[in-house]
Amino acid sequence: MSEENTKSKVALVTGAGRGIGRSIALNLAQDGMHVICVSKSASSCGGAAEFIKQQGYQAEALQVDVSSGDEIRNACQKILDQHEVVDVLVNNAGITRDNLLFRMEEDDWMSVINTNLNSCFHWIKGLGRPMTRKRWGRIINISSVVGLTGNAGQANYSAAKAGMVGLTKSLAREFAARSVTVNAIAPGFIDTDMTSSLDERIKEVALSTVPLKRFGKVEDIADMTSFLASEKSSYITGQVFTVDGGMVM
Ligand code: NAP
Repeated sequence: MSEENTKSKVALVTGAGRGIGRSIALNLAQDGMHVICVSKSASSCGGAAEFIKQQGYQAEALQVDVSSGDEIRNACQKILDQHEVVDVLVNNAGITRDNLLFRMEEDDWMSVINTNLNSCFHWIKGLGRPMTRKRWGRIINISSVVGLTGNAGQANYSAAKAGMVGLTKSLAREFAARSVTVNAIAPGFIDTDMTSSLDERIKEVALSTVPLKRFGKVEDIADMTSFLASEKSSYITGQVFTVDGGMVM
């Protein structure tokens, strides 16, 4: 095996403090990577990194508010001083600020676009060059089924998630010659803090649209991420994988 294959890879996961991101971070660490866990609060990413290290894997925490381009640029500088290259980037951090359009404040629009979509632009700009120079890399963007179907009351969130799909496909074409793949995952309803706050009636209606008749688990998304981050997915780029119990066919 070449030295390149035995050296541990570095992964960065945004929104790794809780929910889907935390599960992705744990999976990638179990896959042998050194994982940089990013989240908004220090206690959240710190807790996730600590948990991963307690299991005997490699991780570190980094507090970054991904809605700020300046914070991401500073973080990328710091990370590249220390690690030279981030091999796997998972853009997972996301928020919802749901409302019907006529009741939606501009701030609800902007904060969702900044956190969910603009952050991807800043992270990829900040970390993409060393990846393309190394001629190996994986960028995985966590979108949503509503980025494909739309959803009443989620114009901001759906627009951001659809934007991630366009970004994924364009960058897959830009980076392909450098063996950097860019793919997206579109989860359906996954059991996390984001969905636990929905009222029971909305949850019931949601469940009735899922052929497999259950909400997804965070591991369902983490396992697809592990595959896309691995050598096994090297001939796959520019794709969107729905992991949604069959909601969107
Ligand atoms: P979650 O449980 O609410 O966790 C969100 C994570 O994102 C947290 O770690 C949070 O940091 C981080 N985050 C939020 N705003 C941030 C900011 N400005 N800067 C840095 N980190 C920030 O969410 P989830 O359900 O796991 O969702 C993860 C991703 O999957 C999101 O992009 C979401 O849109 C997408 N998704 C989820 C579902 C679902 O059903 N759950 C479905 C489709 C798509 P703190 O821990 O510090 O607060």
